[in-house]
Amino acid sequence: MRQWKLFATIAVAVASALLSTGCAGPQTDNAAGTTTVYSGARLLTGDGTVIDNAVFVVMNGRFAGVGHDGETALPAGAARVDLGGKTVIPALLDAHSHIGYMNNLTSGPQNYTHENILDHMNRFAYFGVAASMAMGTDFGELPFQLRAEMEAGRYPATARFLTTGKGLAPIDEIRPDNMRHSATLVTTTEDARREVRELAARNIKIVKTWVDSRGGSVRKLTPDVYTAIIDEAHKHNMRVAVHATGLADVKALIRAGVDGLAHMVNDVDDELIELLKTHPNTYFTLCLGGPRRLVYAPWIDPPHPLISETVRPEQIERLRKRLAGIKPDARARAQAAWDKLARGVTRVNAAGITIGVGTDGGGQNGDQFVGWTMHTELENMVAAGMTPGQVIVAATRTSARIMGLDDLGMVASGKSADFVVLDANPLDDITNTRRINKVFLRGGEVPRAALAAAWQAQTTVAK
Ligand SMILES: [Zn+2]
Repeated sequence: MRQWKLFATIAVAVASALLSTGCAGPQTDNAAGTTTVYSGARLLTGDGTVIDNAVFVVMNGRFAGVGHDGETALPAGAARVDLGGKTVIPALLDAHSHIGYMNNLTSGPQNYTHENILDHMNRFAYFGVAASMAMGTDFGELPFQLRAEMEAGRYPATARFLTTGKGLAPIDEIRPDNMRHSATLVTTTEDARREVRELAARNIKIVKTWVDSRGGSVRKLTPDVYTAIIDEAHKHNMRVAVHATGLADVKALIRAGVDGLAHMVNDVDDELIELLKTHPNTYFTLCLGGPRRLVYAPWIDPPHPLISETVRPEQIERLRKRLAGIKPDARARAQAAWDKLARGVTRVNAAGITIGVGTDGGGQNGDQFVGWTMHTELENMVAAGMTPGQVIVAATRTSARIMGLDDLGMVASGKSADFVVLDANPLDDITNTRRINKVFLRGGEVPRAALAAAWQAQTTVAK
């Protein structure tokens, strides 16, 4: 009886999730209420362990036993799935995105609807991402409503939507035409403390703020104000993640106790490395996609099949033209900036500093294709000097810790059964994370073919 009830709930939720993308109906093989044994795959558990010829059990949407095939006790009467020749990784996690703004060629608050946010979360699921955290660009009641619906289990085949609510920003950052339009204005330490308390009352775990002169065009948040943000957040057991890319700002922020650096800093010196080592809880989400695609984006021309399946042709063409139109001198500057950024990542990584993954997916200018940028980011991190093994751990266990998701980020007993079946091993070549065979969230298979068909149908209608 209980199983039927569960199944009915899931079927309705999957149907509504699919309907929101215009698809006809559920085509999922949800494992909630059932027990399934998956055997024969190479398993990357998420903490750096590799198990060849692995077996794992999924029961009621959770892992219930993981080990070597032939050495692990298995439940009698369970369904069996042979994954011989495949590689399994935990579902990927994105600790920095901007959800709900992008919709084909337009990007802005007018697109920030229940339907569009769910569409983005379906895109993340399609690409093997189990959760994504919107960094300071949510507004109104919608993010809290959606968070509650997610926590109630309404969208089991959809990636989890995590919100940091409205970020806190100085006046110059806030313009109606950018994503910071939603930010809360803070000019005094009193403002800062009051607004942090507002976020605490909303059960926000990470406060987003910005300390960036944007090439001299913005009066930055002053040290007394960001120090008050950090202090008040810590009093409420919250962390603060900051958009700051200047070396001096980042050092000052670390001294003030900031927890997360939402982007890679544009330069690294010995003093920064020492500061990071003496503040060992500080973490990075690198968000390398913006600077990297100015110098390296072979996936857009011709477009990778995963892009063609999910992004409308006119949006693909716009990015292709933007990148092809970069003048040689601008390209040379971008290359120098990337090389410096990559050297910095190599140093930070070698120092053992915590690095998670941020895709900046759905970002303002419409080029950060939701879901796809997870896979380019993983490649970018390898290009910047990390090993594929380190990058997979960053995208799974480490990002789960950053995002406060205790039941994600690993294939381990008791965790939610969120995993990706790949046709090839990403330890051999990180771009093998794109060779997705199947995605499972909460034990159920994401209906990827139906989702892709729905997005393709939108393309046809548009023509
Ligand atoms: Zn961002």
